Amino acid sequence: MRWVLLGPPGSGKGTQARKLAETYHVAHLSTGDILRREVAEDTPLGQQARSYMDSGELVPDVLILDMIRKRLSNLRNGSGYVLDGFPRTQAQAEALDSMLGELGQTLDRVVLFEVGHGEISKRLAGRAVEETRSDDSDTIVAHRIDVYRRQTEPLVDYYRRKGLLARLNGERPIDTVFSEIQQLATA
Ligand code: AMP
Repeated sequence: MRWVLLGPPGSGKGTQARKLAETYHVAHLSTGDILRREVAEDTPLGQQARSYMDSGELVPDVLILDMIRKRLSNLRNGSGYVLDGFPRTQAQAEALDSMLGELGQTLDRVVLFEVGHGEISKRLAGRAVEETRSDDSDTIVAHRIDVYRRQTEPLVDYYRRKGLLARLNGERPIDTVFSEIQQLATA
């Protein structure tokens, strides 16, 4: 299993990626989680990433690509993974293709989580209260959704043209979404 999960912030990618990793014993690579750890530990990468994350901007591609390259090449050969929150720009998607080429791998699926604007705003407002994430405040949330539309959504077409895209309705309950994902995994 070598999958990419694509979708706006708050669409449930992280939750489903964790369930997938547990069920199918594959690695879960979440660039957001890795970055939050780097920030918490105040590493040089964390120091560089922090202001972009706090303002809802994307962290520069070069930093993200370094981070992902390291992790993909450290995985045991042949082990599967779920990429969650990466790629997020056209440049990242193209760089991923060439990294995979070097590793002799291909993606088998890109799953798009479709969730409407109203539902996303509601979920992120809830998460801001529960997790006190510094980037879940109202204005930053609106900006992150806008960044998704402008910079990440074009990847839907990129992966559709490659024949990798599967769409699912991410507004349904977690377990319903996960059953559908399991069907994709065994298809
Ligand atoms: P997430 O938890 O995936 O919503 O990511 C939180 C924040 O981390 C984003 O708003 C970005 O600032 C940064 N980030 C995570 N993944 C990426 C990525 N692939 N490219 C650029 N920035 C990222």
